[in-house]
Parts: sequence; structure tokens; C-alpha cells
Amino acid sequence: MMDDNDTAALRPETLAVHPPQPRISGSTPLGVPLHQGHVFAFDSAEAMADAIHTPGTFLYSRLGNPTVRALEEAVARLEGGVAGLSFASGMGAINAVLLGLLSSGGHVVAQSCLYGGTYAVLSDLAERWGVEVTYVSGTDPEEVRRALRPETRLLYLETIANPTTRVADLPALIAVAAEAGVPTAVDNTFASPLLCRPIEFGADVVIHSATKYLAGHADVLGGMAVFRDAELYGRIRRYAIEQGASTDPFAAWLTLRGMQTLSLRIERQCATALDLAERLANHPAVAAVRHPALPGHPDQAVARRLLPNGGGGVISFDLAGGREAGGTFVGAVRVASLSLSLGDVKTLVMHPASTSHRQLDAAALDTAGIGPGTVRVSVGIEHVEDLWADLEQALERAAKAA
Ligand SMILES: *Cc1c(COP(=O)(O)O)cnc(C)c1O
Repeated sequence: MMDDNDTAALRPETLAVHPPQPRISGSTPLGVPLHQGHVFAFDSAEAMADAIHTPGTFLYSRLGNPTVRALEEAVARLEGGVAGLSFASGMGAINAVLLGLLSSGGHVVAQSCLYGGTYAVLSDLAERWGVEVTYVSGTDPEEVRRALRPETRLLYLETIANPTTRVADLPALIAVAAEAGVPTAVDNTFASPLLCRPIEFGADVVIHSATKYLAGHADVLGGMAVFRDAELYGRIRRYAIEQGASTDPFAAWLTLRGMQTLSLRIERQCATALDLAERLANHPAVAAVRHPALPGHPDQAVARRLLPNGGGGVISFDLAGGREAGGTFVGAVRVASLSLSLGDVKTLVMHPASTSHRQLDAAALDTAGIGPGTVRVSVGIEHVEDLWADLEQALERAAKAA
């Protein structure tokens, strides 16, 4: 490769594509450098051949990139795993884990209240690839034991379910699968590693939509899978390289930047969510409120064990006025935004019955734990009084509409 001495003789056309590479010695940049490059060069054929067999050497960014690797190591450490894999989105991570572990004739046990995209992949695998799926409530270990078969390859759970806020009893459910030699994957998006580290409870893979709490600022899509052991990591990594849902380095850089304030955001979001949940529970227009830390939650005892530092930033509640009231409420908020996502610094609201779950009829909505007047709130970091004033005026509008 060219060094600085070679450049004196070069013409502008050549110099334009060979700018000097920054070399830093004697200090370390405090921010993680953004290595946007997709490809890396070598001094010799031997060095390149060696690199192919040397973990941690970078050749081509779909196989690995220094900025993306920094994110993978950061999330793996936070979750207490041996290694992490970063993806272009949460669905990229979910797809790699499901397709990496399952093949035709295989069987999955999954929680019935699942993220919609995950449910869609499982349905597709069932329909087109002959993978069988048994859905369980996620609250009863005996139900999981009954669902297991000799060909079961995976137990798939979510720490906090959407939008019911039901909390899966991870240690009890995972233990049943582990006894049968079945690995467990847990989508930990709603809890974040600040509230729950599923590997400590025996999970083999932890999945995140990094789009949500990890990145936190509504400016990037990303997904993560973190592994308890190196064998499973190697298996999914091989599949992930084939799948190609790799992370753009700038997306990894934005996620790393956002993650530095994760603990502050989560602390505030948990406190504000519980405060708002308590106020909502006392409002006449509200029929029911769900938050894992709110007294009366059906999984209160499990939440106390699994989420001792807070019940998360998502609340759901039922408007007494039903569907009409729900639609009016989400259209009436001013500080909060009507949006599909969650885990952002801004407060986001949505009405599942008219948007994300609109294809479900009344019975199916009921099974999913969603009422016609259910509203989901992903609490941001704004001042609690500004949020309450906003929710209150929207509640009044909704009550009049119903
Ligand atoms: C958003 C979300 C996903 C999908 O993540 P994307 O980054 O949108 O692909 C998966 N699981 C949960 C729980 C989510 O909230």
C-alpha cells in the first residue's frame, strides 16, 4: 500500500481518491470513531489470507466493521453475554435468530402476545417451510412443559409484552426449556438491559430492536442479538452474513451515541410512566391502566423480581368511551406525538385498534389483550407536569367524543 512518500509524484486525479488516512498515536478519541468504509485493504496476499481466518480482523463491512463491532461489544457487555451481533433493524435480528435456528419440520414454542413482525415471520415459516408453532400465554411454566416436543428447537419470549405490559416469568419458563435442552430467545426491547438482563435468568439469546430504547432518539433503525455462548453466536453469525441485514456504520455510531444516556433516559421514563399511570388510574374517563410497577398488575410479583429498578416506560390504558374515544384521544395530544414507535426521548401515543391491530376482529383483539379503547403511551423524558396537562386535555376531548 501507498505511504506518504509515494504521494509527491501523484497527479490530482489520483490524489483525490487517496486522501491521507488519519493516524492517531499517544491518545484515544473519546467518541467511538465512525468507520463508514465498507472495505479494508491489506499489504500482501498473505496478510489478507490470514485475515480471513483471524477473528476481529476487518475485510468487508458485511462481515464486520470496527464501529459496528464497538456497538456489538457494548451491548453484549450490557446484557452480560459473550458476544453480540448487530443488524439493520430489530426484524433483521429476529429473522436471523429464527431462520438460523429453525429448519423445516422443527417446532417453536412462542408467547402468544408477540411483536407483530415476529408473529408474521413465524406464520410465514409455518405456512411455507413447515415449521410448527405452539403459542403459550408466557405466564405458566407447565403450559410450556406440555407444549415441548422432541423436535422443539426454540422457546421464544418477550420480557414485557406489547401492549398488555404482561411480564413473562423468565426464570421459570426458561428452566423448563433448558431441562429439555431447548434454547430460549428473549426479545428484551421493552425492558432494555438497564431493567432486565435475561441471560442472568438463563436465556440463550437476547434480542433488541435497537431502534427503540438503545438508540432512543427517533433517528436510526437497528437490531441486536446477544448470546450466552460462543457456539450459538457462531451459528447465527454465519447465517447473518448470508442474510445480509448488516448495520450501516453510521447507524451503529448513532446507536452508540444514544446509548450513552440510556440509564438516565430509562430512570426518568420509568418514574414518569409510573406517575402518569397512577394519575390515569384515578381519572374518570379511564377504565383500566396497565404498567408493570402499578399496584394490581396481574404479574406484580414477577415484575418485582425481574424488574426491581422500574417497570419500563410503556403504559397502556383503556378509555371508558371505547373506539371513538381512543381515536379522538390520540388525535388530541399536543406534547405527545401520534406514532407507531416507542422508547424515544419524546412521548409517543397510539391507538392499536385503529392502527397496528386494525385487521383483528373484536374476538382476536380481546385475545391479544387489546380493547377498542386501548391506548399505548411510550413515555419520553419531558417534564411530567407538561405531559399530564397534555394527557388530561386529550382525555377531556375523548370523553366528550364518546
Ligand atoms: C419495534 C420492535 C421490533 C422490530 O424492530 P425494528 O427495529 O422495527 O425492526 C421487535 N420487537 C419489539 C418488541 C419491537 O418493539
